[in-house]
Amino acid sequence: MLCAVLLLLSLTPLEFESRPTRALSGPSLFQQALMIQQFSFDDPALAGSSPASSFNAGNAYLGDRSNGAGSLRGRTVVVMHAHPDDEAIFTGVTVRRLADRGARVVLVTATLGDLGASLAPLAPGETLARRRTAELERASELLGVSRLVLLGKRDSGLPGAADNVHPAALAAADPSTLASGVAKVVEQESADAIVHDDTSGIYGHPDHVAVNRIGALTARLTGVTSYETTVDRDHLHDARPHLIHAAARATALPYGIPADQVELKVTATGEELDVKRAAIGAHSSQIKPDDLSHAAFDDAYGFEWYLRSGAPGVLDLLGGAGSHRGPGGCMSGPASVERPDRMPGSREHRDEQPGGGHRRCHIAG
Ligand SMILES: [Zn+2]
Repeated sequence: MLCAVLLLLSLTPLEFESRPTRALSGPSLFQQALMIQQFSFDDPALAGSSPASSFNAGNAYLGDRSNGAGSLRGRTVVVMHAHPDDEAIFTGVTVRRLADRGARVVLVTATLGDLGASLAPLAPGETLARRRTAELERASELLGVSRLVLLGKRDSGLPGAADNVHPAALAAADPSTLASGVAKVVEQESADAIVHDDTSGIYGHPDHVAVNRIGALTARLTGVTSYETTVDRDHLHDARPHLIHAAARATALPYGIPADQVELKVTATGEELDVKRAAIGAHSSQIKPDDLSHAAFDDAYGFEWYLRSGAPGVLDLLGGAGSHRGPGGCMSGPASVERPDRMPGSREHRDEQPGGGHRRCHIAG
């Protein structure tokens, strides 16, 4: 019920301070198109966190390349992630395809990944948070994001770290308070769906677990379909190097879900995969060139996996002319989205659950 959503965000347009990375190269057309806004949380529990802000690119990226067929013009999806780079690693193909079909994508990033180190030297006076914000903007441009909302929470670090309970940490925040704020974004945008992490936080990072809780609560408040971002752990075995392997070693927790629990799989085209690679690479303070150039990149990053709660929504409409996963990965097939339970040879079909909840589907030969 939207009437129950607290109006916690007050929008106050202001000029955003320039960032060193922009000053070096000059603003891109994307950045010039931004309508920068900053909003603040009224809730005193959020006091002390870095300012939440957002930019809005208006219609700068809304290039409907669908030629009418499968157009998603008029549809909006809110995609929520914990840190800069998650949007590219876990949902880059999905976001780019939504934008290419004419949908509006609003990216909500909860923290700036401000703990940890930078692989690239920072400029004098530059902070990691500022660098990562610039990287996030560049990745957003590549992926066709229309609006970026920063919740301004602090990175919570790995499970059990003292940073988990820092007063400004995302993991220490009240999920219902943040969900109320995100619900207002959903309401403002008349969004059709929200995308957020799965219940285990994909690999157990406390910030990703928090994004699951916030996203699920937001879906409950607004009634929109929610898609949980996950990974197919059977697919991402060690023969397919993926950034999640190191992340899961850091948390010492399992990652993803078994293949037979995946409900929706988006398979990249070659063009989409090129964009995803560039968007991941935009996060150069965190991503090594070797992470993008290995031989198994296409097979590791050419798929994105989801669970769905609620009625079929806009992500279910991303498909092309069927599911094709050739022996060389995703390069040869058309843009596709696969419902594993509907693949040829599937033995099990389960009914939609009108009241929401996950359908568990099985791929069986
Ligand atoms: Zn993350």
